[in-house]
Amino acid sequence: MEKSEKPRVIVLDTSAILSGQLEANPAHKYLTCPGVVDEVRFGNLAPERLDAAIMQGLLSVERPERWALEKTTEAASLTGDITSLSETDIVLIAIAIQYNVANYDVSLISDDYSVQNTAMQLGIKVSGRIHPGIKRAVKWVLICPACSSTFRENLKTCPYCGGELRRKPVKNLST
Ligand SMILES: [Zn+2]
Repeated sequence: MEKSEKPRVIVLDTSAILSGQLEANPAHKYLTCPGVVDEVRFGNLAPERLDAAIMQGLLSVERPERWALEKTTEAASLTGDITSLSETDIVLIAIAIQYNVANYDVSLISDDYSVQNTAMQLGIKVSGRIHPGIKRAVKWVLICPACSSTFRENLKTCPYCGGELRRKPVKNLST
């Protein structure tokens, strides 16, 4: 058990809910966002369990404030993860930031690599079921396989030759 004076908040994505992370430790506060609720409901995978958890007050469905969304988008642009994140992913990370800033002990549980990476970039603790959780944020550049140009901007194709850009991790990226 972790010793902490801070109230513990666990932010869950769809995969985390479906993998049973909601089986609650009553000392924890479980949070998610409306997009995740929709994904679980429309996927028709565990709607009863989800609804029961919300009804019982185990799981709160929250919406982040604008500044938190902007901060998430900014961080995801910096790491290059922005192209891989859904709107729901961004909303979920933004909720985690808000609680982090409000001095809660926040963990974000997601199996999605880009979600994990962006959250790490923002100083949020992450864990996942498939990926063991990455040690530090990885930054990316986009590289054109045809002409070898690299880009920090969020592009899909190479502006010089039209090649389809690929993501490549960058180590020791100096600002
Ligand atoms: Zn090119």
